[in-house]
Amino acid sequence: MKVTAATGLTLTIDLAALAENWTRLEALAAPAECAAVVKADAYGIGIDEAVPALWSAGCRTFFVALPEEGRQVRAAAPDATIYVLNGYFPDWTEAFRTHHLRPVLNTFTALESWAQHAPGEPSAIQVDTGMNRLGLTLHEALELARRPEFLARVAPTLLMSHLACADERGHALNQSQLMLFEEIKAQFPDLPASLANSAGIQLGADYHFDMVRPGIALYGAAFAEDRPPLAPVVTAKARILQLRDVAAGDSIGYGAALHLREETSVAIVAAGYADGYHRRAGSRDDHDGAAAWIRGEPAPVLGRVSMDLIALDVSGRVGVTEGDWVELFGPNVPIDEVAEAAGTIGYEFMTGLSRRAERVYVNRPQAA
Ligand SMILES: *Cc1c(COP(=O)(O)O)cnc(C)c1O
Repeated sequence: MKVTAATGLTLTIDLAALAENWTRLEALAAPAECAAVVKADAYGIGIDEAVPALWSAGCRTFFVALPEEGRQVRAAAPDATIYVLNGYFPDWTEAFRTHHLRPVLNTFTALESWAQHAPGEPSAIQVDTGMNRLGLTLHEALELARRPEFLARVAPTLLMSHLACADERGHALNQSQLMLFEEIKAQFPDLPASLANSAGIQLGADYHFDMVRPGIALYGAAFAEDRPPLAPVVTAKARILQLRDVAAGDSIGYGAALHLREETSVAIVAAGYADGYHRRAGSRDDHDGAAAWIRGEPAPVLGRVSMDLIALDVSGRVGVTEGDWVELFGPNVPIDEVAEAAGTIGYEFMTGLSRRAERVYVNRPQAA
């Protein structure tokens, strides 16, 4: 049997907070449908647990990147509508059929092969409106609109596009993507449409169309600056293994990358980059790192992050003892701040949390 002694990084995942965030986003987007993006194992928190919680909250449509993720969602939500963002190749037909997955068709070749291998089976069509990532060009979309018989075999149930800069409210690309999407949508008047990710929801009702597709906001992380209150879903904690007083002028950790300016109380904590706590969140003589949280105050990371250990400054903190729990991110330390200190974004931090980190689920919804 697995030893679950909570001796390393422990992630407490609040499924009621996840459901609550979905409900808040749904209210923001109504009357548009609110789907849920659960790719990358639900941004690291676990598809098996996230999907039933979202389903209980009322979510009926899920987006994943890969067919295998679609299979996992199907197992967790037998009646859900599931779209696979990474498209379709003919050799995936069996997987799509077996698990009743709908491909998001991004190329004309994929449209043609879907029409050939799964004629009349539901799909989504993605158009590129300026991000230059996945999707049909305007020209291809117009051609498709002129071929109703072909379109009937492709059997789209959704027309979608994706915003490149939704997290910057004033970015010119938002408006130009919106205008192009409206132009393309006019060619497919009967097809429900979807444009907005989490940040796109906040750009206003013009961007909502028939369905919104939040990912990161569901998990309580990055959202535009003036974000509505979202509940933190993930709290990462680890225990203090050892406390030590380190003299002024001494260094800490690998490479002696940080020298202490004064005598410092140091807590050595049981988490490291092997858990997904980025190594670049550490500090050097010329560079501050992230901070953790202990007994109501921030505790800066001292020196390099090791594979299994992090050193924290707990100077002046009364009552800190070996065995205490430290919050590495969660309600008191936004994951986006830790990610920023490591030179990245909350998305990468969340999806990079490793399998070694222990996941403890709380507030599971009661089965209906
Ligand atoms: C990942 C993704 C989303 C969700 O984006 P968030 O910024 O996490 O809300 C929505 N749509 C598409 C096409 C995506 O790839």
